[in-house]
Amino acid sequence: MIVGLTGGIGSGKSVVGDILNVLGYPVFNSDVEAKNILQSDAEVKESVIAKFGDDSFLGDLPNRPYIAEKVFTNKENLEFLNGLIHPAVQRKFESWIKEHSESKILFKEAAILIESGAYKKVDKLILVTADEDTRIQRVMKRDGVSKEKVLERMKNQLPDVDKMKLVDYVIHNDGSESVIKQVIHILKELNENL
Ligand code: ADP
Repeated sequence: MIVGLTGGIGSGKSVVGDILNVLGYPVFNSDVEAKNILQSDAEVKESVIAKFGDDSFLGDLPNRPYIAEKVFTNKENLEFLNGLIHPAVQRKFESWIKEHSESKILFKEAAILIESGAYKKVDKLILVTADEDTRIQRVMKRDGVSKEKVLERMKNQLPDVDKMKLVDYVIHNDGSESVIKQVIHILKELNENL
């Protein structure tokens, strides 16, 4: 069973992912994989160099400021890059599933699981939620960025009220309930329904 784990930025979905991992459940972190794929996927590297030039890489390492400049000033370039990264992450996810075929429950963590449509391919869906002010404060502290920067990143994410209609479970991470207790409750139900 594949269980999607999502939540807006700062909701605490990585914390929940870590808890699941500590409890022995494999968690695929799509956002981390997407960030690493430029470095780990030779095919992606080759295509990026063919499109944006040799300056895209400094040895094995992607020249992120250079690539960012290319994609943030040109929509077609952004679409090109996304068109490389998303299928590559998907390929990685599929091989990861095979590597974990002994596990009955696998988690796929992604910030935009719903927005991207990928939620349709999971068997169950969990949303981690917290009020917007709390999330903003957490991200400002975690990433050392301004409120405006956080709001900019939130702009591309659907509001939680819309996401709640689509998910099977909601984890409230705003101090009102124990997160671990909620995770254990969900795991109990998931295991009962295998
Ligand atoms: P996301 O992955 O959803 O963007 P994180 O799991 O990284 O969010 O959480 C954002 C930040 O808030 C992290 O620094 C995390 O340690 C902190 N955080 C998460 N949940 C709580 C909580 N219940 N109380 C205090 N800090 C929290």
